[in-house]
Amino acid sequence: MQVLPLAADSLGVRSMATLVQAGGQRVLIDPGVALAESRYGLAPSQEELKAREAAATTIVGALCQADAVVVTHYHDDHANLLRYVLCSTRVYLKTPVTPGERRYAQEALPRLQHGHPTIALADGSSAGLGKLSFDFSPPLPHGKPGAGAGSVMAVAVRSPEGCYVHAGDVQGPLSPSAMEWILRQRPDLLYLSGAPTYRLYYQAAAEGDTLTVQDVRQAKTNLLTIMKYTGCEVILDHYLTRDLNFRRLYQEVFATRRVRTAAAFLGQPERLLEARRRDGESREVATLVPRNPGRTYAAAHEADPFPPGIGRRERQGTAGRPISMAAATPVAPTAGARDLFVSNVSEAVELEGAS
Ligand SMILES: [Zn+2]
Repeated sequence: MQVLPLAADSLGVRSMATLVQAGGQRVLIDPGVALAESRYGLAPSQEELKAREAAATTIVGALCQADAVVVTHYHDDHANLLRYVLCSTRVYLKTPVTPGERRYAQEALPRLQHGHPTIALADGSSAGLGKLSFDFSPPLPHGKPGAGAGSVMAVAVRSPEGCYVHAGDVQGPLSPSAMEWILRQRPDLLYLSGAPTYRLYYQAAAEGDTLTVQDVRQAKTNLLTIMKYTGCEVILDHYLTRDLNFRRLYQEVFATRRVRTAAAFLGQPERLLEARRRDGESREVATLVPRNPGRTYAAAHEADPFPPGIGRRERQGTAGRPISMAAATPVAPTAGARDLFVSNVSEAVELEGAS
């Protein structure tokens, strides 16, 4: 069994797209890639945009050759390339539950169902494909129990060579139900998102969603418990690797030497592009291009509504009045600037605005 992460946060983009090859079958899990619209108040850097384009190309390429596709949930970074799936490919989907998931399903499913006899809502079921078998989890919390982010469907892929569990955004796992389901699968290799430590004490809309230090401790304990009782190797990535301090925060977990990021698993250097967005050229990009073309320059620069280069005198205006916010012209990105966001493949795969 070969497990190949195609794109990941440790490889520069938000994604957990993974190709599993075993028993002559190719299974693509989570065909999606995205970038944070805003991190540290900054738009994505050119390097991130290029990484997203490259990742989208890779994922769509793999999608065209896949025998089966699994979607663990409907967030863009897991599902926004699903529309490129071929009619001959089996598709296993999580049942859409939340209004957001249903909205996505309404758009994506009718198109998929056209000539798609092998589409299945798979939660809590099992399926076979040649020498492979799949066990799909019931809905597991996307983080803490009752999390506002909804739920995810984990999948165990089994072949005579072993068991791979793709647990997706269980965030640690933070919930007892996710831990128990993973434990029962007895994986040889487990791929999951770590706790979103970069959002520690970030005020979530729902009080219960706010991540505390105690939650992070629990997430680590849960993962170490899984490792202790199953002996599995772990790919730990996604939300955790959006934090530059992730190795220090997860010291005891990485000390086991059985846990690696997707990049390390592939033997590649880590590219924590989102976490490093404050460094280098990304700041210029943010200044140049409001991500949403509908946003005015003023809205994008709340702290300083005046375009750079306008001095104090100009700010006062010739009549001695301050220039009003409304007077700041909406910025139509220049042709060159627009290219930063809509470049060849990204445009072809309609990613613009999807992240
Ligand atoms: Zn995700």
